[in-house]
Amino acid sequence: MEQILIVGSGPAGYTAAIYAGRAGYEPLVVAGSVTAGGNLVNTTEVENFPGFPDGVLGPELMERMAAQAKRFGAKVLHDDVTSVSLAGPVKTVRTLGGARFEAAALIVATGASYKVLGLASEQRLSGKGVSYCATCDGFFFRGKEIVVVGGGDSAMEEAVFLTRFASKVTVVHRRGELRASRIMAERAMAHPQIEFAWHSTVQEILGETKVEGVVLADTRDGATRRLDASGVFVAIGHSPNSELFAGQLKLDADGYVLVLGPPSPDEPVAARHQATSQPGVFACGDVVDRTYRQAITAAGSGAQAALDAQEYLERVAADAALAAATI
Ligand code: NAP
Repeated sequence: MEQILIVGSGPAGYTAAIYAGRAGYEPLVVAGSVTAGGNLVNTTEVENFPGFPDGVLGPELMERMAAQAKRFGAKVLHDDVTSVSLAGPVKTVRTLGGARFEAAALIVATGASYKVLGLASEQRLSGKGVSYCATCDGFFFRGKEIVVVGGGDSAMEEAVFLTRFASKVTVVHRRGELRASRIMAERAMAHPQIEFAWHSTVQEILGETKVEGVVLADTRDGATRRLDASGVFVAIGHSPNSELFAGQLKLDADGYVLVLGPPSPDEPVAARHQATSQPGVFACGDVVDRTYRQAITAAGSGAQAALDAQEYLERVAADAALAAATI
């Protein structure tokens, strides 16, 4: 039986593994098969992770985190968790590869995935002009016209980044007002290569084998128009990867795993921040965080989750020792 099992291998999962490893627990990290390393594997330069004054490539950062976790005894399995059973003192995890693990404590670090528009044409043209990652795919659109969908910080960041390559970027937003923070919105709105299609949704993405344009629908009167473009970047937010835990852990309305979090003025007793509704199960990173979603904040909460798991295991062991002594 494992002492600590960690599901997920982004900055949260690997940081939890480094802490649990250094504490002597030899944690098992079920890292995912194609998703190992989390979202940073799909980025290029990371410039805001402390300790890398010249920046670091996302995949390299994740390789370094994995190596650091292994150095302290973490075992990394490239497999996907298909089901979990979290009630009671022994947590059970089953994987696609047919393995079954038991653990005394479980750390959920499954991250979040990008949201999709849900159009058939979007799915058909994904990777053929439809993208969810400007830093990954922007390079392919040199001199082309591009559509970015969304009105939040992600959409503004992608739009500004894509002006490095594109001749023109049109941001398609379903309202007349951006959700993005003021500084990001102002930067995008002041950019000479960025235009805005307000009160608009993408009704269809045009093209058979590659993107040729979009059909926009006006949200006020339903009027449609065609906009030529070679690329469509969808930047409408992320969904937490928490389906595995539905019905077993308390989730909020959007599916984020609920954790105790820092103490509030109403409840000043310092609780274990990353504790979920299930004793012995802790959660960290983007699957609990709708606000910050940064590599460094995920890493920080991963450290907290490992410390919380350690405290839990020590408390369970102390209770067992006390019970044995009383008998
Ligand atoms: P977000 O803030 O949730 O914004 C999502 C945007 O997409 C909203 O404008 C939303 O429209 C639109 N949208 C959602 N579903 C849609 C749909 N089905 N069709 C069309 N439009 C849709 O997500 P985010 O931009 O990814 O940002 C998430 C968090 O990360 C935020 O806290 C943000 O500040 C942070 N972030 C920060 C930075 C940075 O500081 N560098 C960069 C990226 C993200 P409505 O406005 O109408 O709801």
